[in-house]
Amino acid sequence: MQIQLVRTEPVAQNIQSFLFKPTAAVGYTAGQFIQMTLPHHNPDDRGIKRWFTLSSSPTQELLSITTKFAGDASSSFKKELFSLQPGDSVEINSPEGDFVLPSDPGTELLFVAGGMGITPYHSMVQWLADSGEKRNITLLYGVQTKEELAFTELFTSYGVNFKPLIGERLTTDMIMKEAAGKLVYVSGPEPMVEALNDSLIAGGLPDERLKTDYFPGYQNNYSA
Ligand SMILES: Cc1cc2nc3c(=O)[nH]c(=O)nc-3n(C[C@H](O)[C@H](O)[C@H](O)COP(=O)(O)OP(=O)(O)OC[C@H]3O[C@@H](n4cnc5c(N)ncnc54)[C@H](O)[C@@H]3O)c2cc1C
Repeated sequence: MQIQLVRTEPVAQNIQSFLFKPTAAVGYTAGQFIQMTLPHHNPDDRGIKRWFTLSSSPTQELLSITTKFAGDASSSFKKELFSLQPGDSVEINSPEGDFVLPSDPGTELLFVAGGMGITPYHSMVQWLADSGEKRNITLLYGVQTKEELAFTELFTSYGVNFKPLIGERLTTDMIMKEAAGKLVYVSGPEPMVEALNDSLIAGGLPDERLKTDYFPGYQNNYSA
């Protein structure tokens, strides 16, 4: 389906949200992702398609994605995306994925994010805030610098137990200390999520209490 760019919003240093108007209703659950196709002149070998989490909530009229721009080091896809103008259209497929909230509102949640891995939590917390549903959420959020922290206003106003980690690695120990009795979500660059998945399971976290979502394409191990 085609979606049309309405506007962009700065979110943090080099991080921007892109807000789109769908041409037909798009059903999704907070935390799901889409694939975007952006044909452009002379694409590099990373090509013209990327996956993005919908950082918006289904309660909102516009669909949004939130992503980072790496300047000259950016892919041709990102350069094209960041040059889109309001009114331009892009193609996306239907939202999918099971990195979503549990149906039981009583389940205590530990969200772990590295860098851009924060996007699904924005969608979920926005949905909870708009739905007037209060859940117990702790967020461990690793970024390289404090300027890269995104969406802090929403997390603090909702009452998330917000624990930013600036310039520090997210470790298995930190997560295990917070994980008792909670359903644990881990989202971020692929190497970070893979390493934490293995070490958390080895550390005794039962498989059914761990949900992971990884973003390929970001090289840095512990934040995107
Ligand atoms: C389910 C899912 C959800 C996702 N959600 C999001 C999201 O919400 N937000 C988001 O930003 N991303 C998300 N991603 C990742 C996204 O699809 C891109 O992979 C990511 O944004 C990196 O984009 P890019 O490859 O255009 O690299 P860029 O952002 O342009 O570059 C990132 C950095 O990595 C380097 N780099 C990356 N790949 C290579 C390579 N092959 N060769 C050399 N250097 C490289 C770049 O030079 C740069 O320093 C998601 C991925 C999945 C699978």
